[in-house]
Amino acid sequence: MRRVRVLIIGSGPAGLSAALYTARAQFSTVVITGPQFGGQIATTHEVDNFPGFPEGITGPELVERMKQQAERFGAEFVYDVVTDVDLSTGSPFTVTTTSETFVADVIIATNGADPRKLGVPGEREYVGRGVSYCATCDGFFFRGKKVVVVGGGDSALQEALFLTKFADVTVIHRRDTFRASTALQTRARANPKISYIMDSVVEAINANEHGVVKSVTLRNVKTGEVTEYPTDGVFIFIGYDPNGGLFKGQIATDADGYVLVDQLMRTNVDGVFAAGEIRDRIWRQAATAAGEGVAAALSATHWLEERAGELEPIEGELSEQTAGD
Ligand code: NAP
Repeated sequence: MRRVRVLIIGSGPAGLSAALYTARAQFSTVVITGPQFGGQIATTHEVDNFPGFPEGITGPELVERMKQQAERFGAEFVYDVVTDVDLSTGSPFTVTTTSETFVADVIIATNGADPRKLGVPGEREYVGRGVSYCATCDGFFFRGKKVVVVGGGDSALQEALFLTKFADVTVIHRRDTFRASTALQTRARANPKISYIMDSVVEAINANEHGVVKSVTLRNVKTGEVTEYPTDGVFIFIGYDPNGGLFKGQIATDADGYVLVDQLMRTNVDGVFAAGEIRDRIWRQAATAAGEGVAAALSATHWLEERAGELEPIEGELSEQTAGD
């Protein structure tokens, strides 16, 4: 059983920024990385829109640098997965991973969201080679090319509109009507660079001999007809699932499972904060997640400072904490 002051669940930009701030404020800080160190951004081969990198930076390098910066101030990274969180006792909370148990005064939940997957052959194999879940991240690489967007909700049409800056876009939707708002449908219909294939599902994503996407196999759900549709890229926007399972029944969420926080990034459980995509269904950017992680860490820092006299000493932690500002 390890006693820590701040336990951060998740190691995407929100968790990494939070770790930098709580560690720099001299609170003992442990980050449980989760299954993918760095989160979704770590799977993006080039990040052009994180401020401070005029030439761009790869996703893995960005998260590695953020990690090193947090480590410089004493944050510790544990490459493990949280299997259980008990919030029922109030602070301090017990957090269990596959190999250790932690007791933490504060939890910062930054375990993100995952784009929903189609689950068809070729999808997983060609991520980064034509398959993408992020138009803002990857649209630029399809300049002058043809891409398909899969989905019929607000995300699909909004991202399809964004992608027309770079490419000709075909939206593929499984029904004959869209779930997206009328306003977005009107804008998309007015855009000459967007065409539509309705009543159709993607059955497979196919690649050329270099392992780069060349087409999708489509099945018309009304006629049963199967066709191969050539494309350079496949952008999948069929919804997102916040990774809130650990907190199910313990923390307030909206109907879709996004953790609810107030302006100070506080959840409804005293001492538990949340930042990034586990609570954000709108922006989903590395930079906004990083900013939210900072806000959550500063709130957590103030929370701890207010209770400084009551906190159990932790070996190796300095007794006089100062907020890193
Ligand atoms: P969503 O509203 O859940 O829409 C998902 C879309 O993907 C639906 O059209 C759905 O088809 C389709 N789909 C789901 N599973 C599929 C599968 N296995 N194969 C093929 N198609 C599949 O998700 P979202 O568009 O990401 O939006 C999520 C939330 O964020 C919504 O509340 C949305 O309003 C909000 N949002 C708002 C904005 C905005 O206001 N500008 C922008 C983005 C998102 P069916 O329609 O047939 O179910």
